[in-house]
Amino acid sequence: MLPNLIGFDALAMSAFFSEIGEKEFRARQLLRWIHQRQVSDFAAMSDLAMSLRGRLPSLARIAAPEVVRDHTAADGTRKWLLQVDSTNAVESVYIPERSRGTLCVSSQAGCVLDCAFCSTGKQGFNRNLSRAEIVGQLWLASRLLAESGLEGRAITNVVFMGMGEPLLNLEEVVPALRLMLDDNAYGLSRRRVTVSTSGVIPGMDQLRDECPVALAVSLHAPNDALRDKLVPINRKYPLAELIKACRRYLERAPRDFVTFEYVMLDGVNDSPQHARELLGISARIHCKFNLIPFNPFPDSGLRRSPPDTVRRFSEVLQRAGVTVTVRRTRGDDIDAACGQLAGDVADRTRRSAAGRVIPITEVHA
Ligand code: SAH
Ligand code: SF4
Repeated sequence: MLPNLIGFDALAMSAFFSEIGEKEFRARQLLRWIHQRQVSDFAAMSDLAMSLRGRLPSLARIAAPEVVRDHTAADGTRKWLLQVDSTNAVESVYIPERSRGTLCVSSQAGCVLDCAFCSTGKQGFNRNLSRAEIVGQLWLASRLLAESGLEGRAITNVVFMGMGEPLLNLEEVVPALRLMLDDNAYGLSRRRVTVSTSGVIPGMDQLRDECPVALAVSLHAPNDALRDKLVPINRKYPLAELIKACRRYLERAPRDFVTFEYVMLDGVNDSPQHARELLGISARIHCKFNLIPFNPFPDSGLRRSPPDTVRRFSEVLQRAGVTVTVRRTRGDDIDAACGQLAGDVADRTRRSAAGRVIPITEVHA
């Protein structure tokens, strides 16, 4: 199959043009056509020489994943189910707010890490997404939002909080990030692109060295005994090591804090004592907490913490001077709170029952 230019970062694009005997500045032109105007037809690229426009279709293609479902919720949240091959589909969610628009993207079909509260983990690991499939989500969302009249910079932020563990697919995630940051492509600032990880320490160090963007870490428990159960990767990379890795990350990060995500599970990790234990962690690293009401799915055996419990928990942190936000669920009427429709398209009815809260925050203080 012809190479898919949608996933080519600046370096790869320059290499492509020099290989076909063209000037390297063509790379910049192509990046702009593809990522700033979402053009996929070489014939429409009017500032390219006619001869080049004629040649390109036999040398390369520009292709995004196919949209198999497109739903908009009453609150404007929009969700796409994207087919990436005959058996796999992933989800992207667009969340508009007054002052920003956030796109939540997937990095893998499925996930190998099997966290207790996550339906993506329950379905197992299917495969890594390619850089073209990752950037393709942003490309598609930009194009479809523009078509619906949301001109200009509808997407101001990108979060890797859809399906998969991005730090287990850095080979593809890093070039995708470079395109998101490139001024000739999406031009997002490093602080407006957030990678969320369950705590894959070597990946945190690699991301720090190769492309430091904002970091969110899925903490979910204040001690190793509980975290071992909820986030099994903790057995390999325990809390003390994770905190050290966060500190190393902050040396190069675009923000001076790490965001800790914390899913509130009724009777499991949500007591005031758990919150007090977290203060031992917040004393060691500059951080903010984002409390996520658990989104239940069949057979999870877990329940969402009641609002009062969440309030008491966040008060313990706030009284100690820690910033806390509570994520709020958006797009309920289209099941957009569900983070993983996908996996196997043929099987999506069953899987659509599973769920995750999408990344929207609201200051709780
Ligand atoms: N693998 C990465 C990124 C994808 S998950 C990670 O784990 O960080 C994005 C966020 O959704 C994580 O904080 C994850 O813990 C959370 N999440 C997963 N399942 C959830 C559920 N059922 N309810 C609420 N949040 C969930
Ligand atoms: Fe994977 Fe993240 Fe789900 Fe854990 S929470 S299983 S790391 S996608």
